[in-house]
Amino acid sequence: MSPNEMMLEKSETLTSEQIVELTRKHNYGTWRFQKGWNPMHIVDAEGCYIVDGKGKRYLDFSAQLMCSNLGHKNQVVIDAIAKQAQQLSYAMPGYATEVRAELSKLLVEVLPAGLSKFFFTTSGTEANEAAFKIARMYTGKTKIIARYRSYHGSTTGSIAATGDPRRWAMEPGGKGPGVIFGPEVNCYKCPIRHTYPGCGIACADYLEHMIRNESDVAAVLIEPVVGTNGVLVPPDEYMPKLRKICDEYGVLLIADEVMSGWGRTGEWFAMNHWGVVPDILTTAKGITGAYVPLGLCATSGKIADFFEDHYFAHGHTYEAHPMTLAPAVAAIREMQRMDLVARAKGLEPYLRGKLEELKAKHPSVGDVRGKGLFWAVDLVKNRTTKEPFGTYSDKVAGRPLLVDQIAGKILADGVTIQAWVSHFIIAPPLIITKVQIDFGIDALDRHLSIADALVEGG
Ligand code: PMP
Repeated sequence: MSPNEMMLEKSETLTSEQIVELTRKHNYGTWRFQKGWNPMHIVDAEGCYIVDGKGKRYLDFSAQLMCSNLGHKNQVVIDAIAKQAQQLSYAMPGYATEVRAELSKLLVEVLPAGLSKFFFTTSGTEANEAAFKIARMYTGKTKIIARYRSYHGSTTGSIAATGDPRRWAMEPGGKGPGVIFGPEVNCYKCPIRHTYPGCGIACADYLEHMIRNESDVAAVLIEPVVGTNGVLVPPDEYMPKLRKICDEYGVLLIADEVMSGWGRTGEWFAMNHWGVVPDILTTAKGITGAYVPLGLCATSGKIADFFEDHYFAHGHTYEAHPMTLAPAVAAIREMQRMDLVARAKGLEPYLRGKLEELKAKHPSVGDVRGKGLFWAVDLVKNRTTKEPFGTYSDKVAGRPLLVDQIAGKILADGVTIQAWVSHFIIAPPLIITKVQIDFGIDALDRHLSIADALVEGG
């Protein structure tokens, strides 16, 4: 019996409808009103596809939550999980384990040079929480400068550092201390109304202005390529400039590569595009190809040295859990074996070309931007004013968004795609083929006419 058949047989005790109903009744649907949540029942997945309870196959055009980078059912990763479970399923983090040693060695190989001391978590959120505490302990300072249009996690500290309106739910009482916000880098809709390249990267100058006019700044926190909030790629001058500013003022640079890491942008880590090494790099998602939850907070040698004679006041029961580390070793080796980072870079021109065609054809597409296999298709009502089809206020108020309606049509055509406020995120498994890219793009192409019809003057 194939695993597919086994799964279908197992669920015979519950109908697909019952599974959906029990899920809905007893679980929270996140980042949404509960009313209207009708989760799709998933029974199987393989390669770039997922399969629903009725046996219908969907191309996974956003790698679930931009994390199933290796595709589904990679046998090497599955075997590594089984082997680790049989050998040693758990050991306290205070012990040394072979799998932790092995993963540490591999990480030193693939991370930006100099990031050599690690704290393992079970999510990106916790990796960021660890980074904030480490930065504050190391510098003895409190404030974190984050940027608008960012996402860094959902716990009290990480949501406080999140620059999108999901933070608003925490205000006023639950707002975490010590985070201040600067402008995001967004050359399509510059928040300080400059135009690249004549701007001289004024958005980075603004961060310097903030550091100069604040006291007690521990770190600047960035997503090197902003993910959920629209795949915002900085111009090449931005990151070296920011590194220089941080060095000049003795402020740490924290790069949140939870989404942008692990080959997604065509480099192992997005920071590699600019040859800039952060003091702290956080990541999660693709580190295990999403087979098992794992997060990582990686720090530089100078931070590591500091804690030789300072108390490292942080830890979790499940930090460095062997079951989370074994699939990471396997996933990284698989990425190396299949040369997936080069593959993401190699497919970039093809995907870019397809998206440029969409933009030329559909007046509702205001901008397409990205790197590697990480792209946004940004919809606007009007290309001159760049007014979006919906706002964050609509989202948090539970008002229907056009992108969700279009994503529903695309789903019916057999493609899952992430829709967010007024853009789509295309971030398929890194094993995707050109034929599969065409299939996903064609579905998008078919249904963008819904937005085109609403374009002002269109
Ligand atoms: N940082 C970034 C850039 C993210 O994209 C995410 C998740 N989307 C997080 C942090 C939080 O990670 P997690 O959901 O694993 O807690």
